[in-house]
Amino acid sequence: MSNKFVGAHVSASGGVFNAPLNAMKIGAKAFALFTKNQKQWAAKPLDEETIALFKENLVKSGILPKHILPHDSYLIILGHPEEEKRQKSLDAFIDELERCSQLGLDRLNFHPGSHLKQISEEECIDRIAMSMNEAIRRVEGVNLTIENTAGQGSNLGWRFEQIAAIIERIEDKSRVGVCIDTCHMFTAGYDIRTIDAYEQTWLEFDRIIGFDYLKGMHINDSKPDLGSHVDRHDSIGKGKIGVEPFRFLMNDSRMDDIPLVLETIDETIWAQEIELLYSMQE
Ligand SMILES: [Zn+2]
Ligand SMILES: [Zn+2]
Repeated sequence: MSNKFVGAHVSASGGVFNAPLNAMKIGAKAFALFTKNQKQWAAKPLDEETIALFKENLVKSGILPKHILPHDSYLIILGHPEEEKRQKSLDAFIDELERCSQLGLDRLNFHPGSHLKQISEEECIDRIAMSMNEAIRRVEGVNLTIENTAGQGSNLGWRFEQIAAIIERIEDKSRVGVCIDTCHMFTAGYDIRTIDAYEQTWLEFDRIIGFDYLKGMHINDSKPDLGSHVDRHDSIGKGKIGVEPFRFLMNDSRMDDIPLVLETIDETIWAQEIELLYSMQE
């Protein structure tokens, strides 16, 4: 019996209730989804029928809520330097948390965002944490899962220390978690290509952030090289990370029982990639 829950970021087009069915089609035991159009600010609320159908299809798929990692809209910047825009982001973020809660989902994956070169890193981290603390007070039961970034442009959250600094400022730490994207980790400068590098990187992760906070992973190979700070995913084994580190991961009990989600570029081979990952388990 495998303790790994691998899936992909599946389409929810036509309605969120399609996501579990799309996950089933590729043999996924986990999945990610957008609970609304990720490129728009507003969305109509989820109606009772949609929620019921989502839950029904989820039961059909056999996938548990803790193995689902919803992703928020790309528009949201919780540490926005301009107060009005931060507030707009916070409102949208709270709406996303409420949607997760309505669907019975217990975590929401988001990007910490950018300081846009208008404020210091420190100030931006304060603003992100302020937004998160308010969101936590407003919506119960959903973990705010911070995703590490590649550090492209002025994006924060590529160094483990930056993520730790956000967590440090959260009043209720039981409500915060981390999602590690292997591509972002690698292009941020954390090597995982050899077993020694892999162990070293995760040792550092554990020391600075802690495995207790790991609520999910994005399993991507990387087109750009180590430390390039460019965010471009590749299919498993086709990029600069290569296939071996994913074997380390599939045999690492520290990644048990959390969603491991492919965001790789060719969705026509997701089923094969899932199969490949499971086949690497010893
Ligand atoms: Zn990701
Ligand atoms: Zn990415």
